[in-house]
Amino acid sequence: MKRLLPWAGGAVAVIAAWVLWSEPLQFALGGALINAGYRMQDSLARYDFQHEHANPEEVWEQFLGQNRLSSSIRWLFPRTSRHPVVAIVACMDGRLDTNEIAGDTRRYYYVLRLAGSVLSLKEEEMLELAVENGVEVVVFTTHTDCAAEKVSADPAARKRYPHLSQAVDEREMRFQEFLERPLIANRLTEGQLLVKWMDIDTKDERLVPHARSAR
Ligand SMILES: [Zn+2]
Repeated sequence: MKRLLPWAGGAVAVIAAWVLWSEPLQFALGGALINAGYRMQDSLARYDFQHEHANPEEVWEQFLGQNRLSSSIRWLFPRTSRHPVVAIVACMDGRLDTNEIAGDTRRYYYVLRLAGSVLSLKEEEMLELAVENGVEVVVFTTHTDCAAEKVSADPAARKRYPHLSQAVDEREMRFQEFLERPLIANRLTEGQLLVKWMDIDTKDERLVPHARSAR
């Protein structure tokens, strides 16, 4: 028995080393730790802008204070700078968290947050520039329970928000326009780029292919 103990200890050490150095496991563990942080903050009503009764000045002061704290921590632990290979287009809806969508807390991707996920020419150009600089996958997303879509579908609301409504009407056309830009079309044909149109379930951020998902 005594002879077996060193062997067992060695085996445990090897397994522990494998767990610590396994990249997929480190990725999942990192995500789990960040998620634990999110969940810990969820219950703190004092710092919840939605439920705290504060005037705009107080909210702004708190916002700035949180930024100062966060940026001072960032200064101590600078983020590794790598060029993203993924670009995500998402609606500006506050319930969507692109970190959780990608499961990557390092944010190694470009994020375009747009009202109703509607591209305009300047965003199309920005995305093309990102592709030119190395992006290989563009994830264009729309989501359930989208306020912009609701406005667009309601005749009375359309009168109050005519530009937003028109933008949502043009969303698909804009997406198609992006796909037809020469550099984008060429990269798609050559198999150097994937562009996906996905729907996000706003409840749990699961991605499912949109009915118009291109290629
Ligand atoms: Zn939305």
